[in-house]
Amino acid sequence: MLRDITAAGGLHRRFLLQVILPLLLVLAMTGIGGLYAIHWAAARSDAASMEQQHHLLEVALSDTLAHLATQQRSVALWRPLAEVLAAPRPDLAFLDENIGGWLHEMFGHDATYVLGPRDAGRYVSQDGLRQGPDAFAAVEQGLAPLLDALKRESTMLGRQAGPSAGGAADGNVVPATAQVETMQSLLGRPAFVAAARIPRLDVTSAAEFSTEREFFSIVSVIFLDAGYLRELGARTNLADLRLADPEDALAPTEAALTLHAPSGEPLGRLVWRADRPGSEMQRALIPTALGMLAVVTLIFGLMARRLWRSLCGAVRILRELRASEAQAQHLAFHDVLTGLPNRALFDDRLGQALAQVQRESGRIALLLLDLDRFKHVNDTMGHHAGDILIREIATRLANQMRDADTVARVGGDEFMIVLAGVESSADADARCDAIQAAIRRPCVLLGNPISPSATIGYALAPDDGAERGELMRKADIALYAAKAAGRDTWRRFEQSMDDTVRMRNDISTDLRAALEHQQGLAVHFQPQVDGASRKVVGLEALVRWQHQRRGTIRPDEFIPIAEETGLIVPLGEWVFRQACRTARRWPQLFMAVNVSPVQFRNATLAQRLIAIAREEQCDPAQIELEITEGVLLEDDQRAHTCLAELRQAGFKIALDDFGTGYSSLHYLQRFRVDKIKIDRSFTQSLGACADAPAIIDSVVGLGRAMGLTITAEGVETQEQMQALVAAGCHELQGYLFSLPLPEDRLEEAIANAGQDGTHA
Ligand code: C2E
Ligand code: CA
Ligand code: CA
Repeated sequence: MLRDITAAGGLHRRFLLQVILPLLLVLAMTGIGGLYAIHWAAARSDAASMEQQHHLLEVALSDTLAHLATQQRSVALWRPLAEVLAAPRPDLAFLDENIGGWLHEMFGHDATYVLGPRDAGRYVSQDGLRQGPDAFAAVEQGLAPLLDALKRESTMLGRQAGPSAGGAADGNVVPATAQVETMQSLLGRPAFVAAARIPRLDVTSAAEFSTEREFFSIVSVIFLDAGYLRELGARTNLADLRLADPEDALAPTEAALTLHAPSGEPLGRLVWRADRPGSEMQRALIPTALGMLAVVTLIFGLMARRLWRSLCGAVRILRELRASEAQAQHLAFHDVLTGLPNRALFDDRLGQALAQVQRESGRIALLLLDLDRFKHVNDTMGHHAGDILIREIATRLANQMRDADTVARVGGDEFMIVLAGVESSADADARCDAIQAAIRRPCVLLGNPISPSATIGYALAPDDGAERGELMRKADIALYAAKAAGRDTWRRFEQSMDDTVRMRNDISTDLRAALEHQQGLAVHFQPQVDGASRKVVGLEALVRWQHQRRGTIRPDEFIPIAEETGLIVPLGEWVFRQACRTARRWPQLFMAVNVSPVQFRNATLAQRLIAIAREEQCDPAQIELEITEGVLLEDDQRAHTCLAELRQAGFKIALDDFGTGYSSLHYLQRFRVDKIKIDRSFTQSLGACADAPAIIDSVVGLGRAMGLTITAEGVETQEQMQALVAAGCHELQGYLFSLPLPEDRLEEAIANAGQDGTHA
C-alpha cells in the first residue's frame, strides 16, 4: 500500500478497499449470521413449544374424554342402577341423587341421559337438574350416530366374547360393558360425549350384549364451555384459552387447535395466547446482540482509525524522507544563499554543453564573472549586506540567462556562466555587455545607494578549446586580463594573454628558485643628494635580478608577479636585510627600503623588520621605509597599526611615488609620515607641461608646511634640478646624480658626489 504514496487519494481509496471494506463485510456477515442464528433458534424453539402446546392440549382433551368414559362406566356398571332400572317404574329421586346429580357434582358432567330400550329417553339431567323426558328430543338426532356406534360396539363385543365367556353371574363381578366416546357437536356446541350400555341384571355374560335384548344406555356430555375451558386452561397452562369459529382470523400472538368430529367435520377452534419462548428470547437477545454488534463495530472503527492514522503517519514520514532526500539532493547541487547551481552541477552542465558542441557543431561561451569591490561592501556594510547584494546579483544574472544557459555561484563573489548557442564572438561580446549592463543598475543596500559592477573573462568552445580544463584556464586568464585592465569590463581570451600568463608563471617559478638559492638577485643602491649641497645624504635600496636565460629583468616586471604570488614577503625581507648590512657601512647616510602594500597585509611585518634590523645591528632610525599611498588609503586597521609600530621602533616613513595616485595629502592628517617623494613623472613633466611647476610648488608648499621632508625622484637634467631646488625640494634623486649602483661602487660615488654639481 505504501508503494505509491504520491497520490493521497489513492491511499485513501486503497485503505477503503483493502481494509475498511473487508472489515465491513466481516461485520455485516457476523451481524447477519448472528441475527439469523438467533432468529433460527427462536423459530425452532417456538415450533417445538407450539408442538408441545398442541400436544398438551390434545392430551388434555383426550384425557377429558377418557375420564368422561371412565366416570360414566363407574356409574353404568353400578349394580343398584341396574336394579333401579329393572323396576317397572324407575326411582327418579334415586337417579337424581346417584346419577344425574352425582355425575354433575362429582365430575362436572353437563348432561346425563338415561335411555331405555330402542334408545327412548327415560331420564334427562342437565347441570344436575332433572328435565322432562321431552328434553331428550333436542339431542336425539345429534346422539343418533353415537348410539349407532354403541350398538355396533355392543354387537362386536358380544361376538368377540362368544357364548361361553364368563360374566358377573354371581352378582359380585361387574360385567364389562359396551362403551363409545367421542367429541362431537351437540346442541350446536362441541362436546365430549360418551355412551355406555347399562348391563341388565339378568345378563351374566358379555355374549348377551350381542343379542337383541332390551338394554338401557347412559349418555354423558361435557360441553367445551367457558367453565371447561377455564379448567382446561389451568390444567394445560395455556393463557386466554377460548373457543372460536374455525373461520375466525387469529391474532399474531395466538395459536389454535381445530377440533374435529370423528366424521372429520370441524367442530370449532381452540384459541389461546401462544407461548413462544423463542420469540421472547429473540426479543430479549436482539437488543443485546445489536449492542454487541455496535460495540464490535465501534472497536473495529477505532482500530481502523488507529490503523489509518499510523498509516498516514508512516506515509507522512516516508514523504518527509523523500522530501528531505530531494532537499539534500538539491543542497548537494545548489548554492544555499542564491539557490543557483553550485560548482558540481555547473561542471556537469559544462560537460554536457561541451559534449554537445563536439557531437553537433555549435559554440558555447564559458564566462567567469567576479563582482568588483565586493570585499569593500562586506567590510564597510557587513556580511548581511554582502549576502543581499550577492542574492540581487544572482537574480539579475538568472534573468539574463536563456533556456539552455547555466549560471552558477562558485565562490563568495564569483560566478560561472555557460552561454549555449553562441553564434560568434561578437554575439558573446554582446551578451557580456548585456550582463554587465544588468549588474550595473544602481540599487540601495540597507539604505546605502551602491552601483555594483562586475568583471568578466570568457573563452569560446570549440574556438579556444573543447576540453573543460583548458577552457576554464583560458576564461580565467581572460578574467585576469580584464581585472588588470581596470575592472567593470570584459575580455575575451586571446593567445597573447596565454603567453603573458605563461611567462609570469615562469618568472614566478624562477624567482622562487633564485630566492631560495641566492642566485641572480642583488641589491643596488641609488644615492639621494641634498638639494643645496648635492652631498649624498641617503641611499635607496633597489632589487636587481639577473635571470640566467632572460638576462636582466626589471623590477617593474617581476615585483608585481612577486606581489601576486606572495613571494614579495621573503624577497622584501631579503632586500631589507641587505640594506641593513650596507647601511652599517655608511652610518651617516639614511637607507631607504621599498615596502610593498602586500607586505602590510602580513600582521607580523613590523616585528619581522624590527627583528631583522636588530639581527643586523642596524639602528632603525637610519632606515626609511618607502610606502605608497595605497597603504594609507586602505581602511585597513592592520596596516595602520603596523606603521605605528614601525614608527614607534624608530623607522622613518616616506611616501613614495607621490602624485601618481590620489595626489591628495588630506589622508596625511590621519597618519603622519616623515617624507614625501615626488614621482619622477612629475619631475619629468617639468618643462614639458606648463602646469607642472605650479603643482610642484603647491605640493612642496603643503609638505613643508606640514614639516615634511620633500624629495624629488627621477631628476635627469640640470633644469629639473634647478626648478626643483627653486621650488623648495629638500632632496633629489635621479640619474643626474647617480644610477643605482652595487655596493662596491658606492664608495666612489659617494665621495665624488657634488664635486661637479651633478653626478655622484
Ligand atoms: P621606485 O621605488 O620609484 O624606485 C625608483 C625607480 O626609478 C628605480 O627603478 C630607479 O632605477 C628609477 N630611477 C631613478 N632615477 C631615475 C631617473 O633619473 N630617470 C628614470 N627614468 N628612472 C630613474 P627600478 O629600480 O627599475 O625600480 C622600479 C620600481 O620597482 C621601484 O620604483 C619600486 O617601486 C620597485 N622596487 C624596486 N626594488 C624594490 C624592492 O626591493 N622592493 C619593492 N617593494 N619594490 C622595489
Ligand atoms: Ca622607491
Ligand atoms: Ca618612486
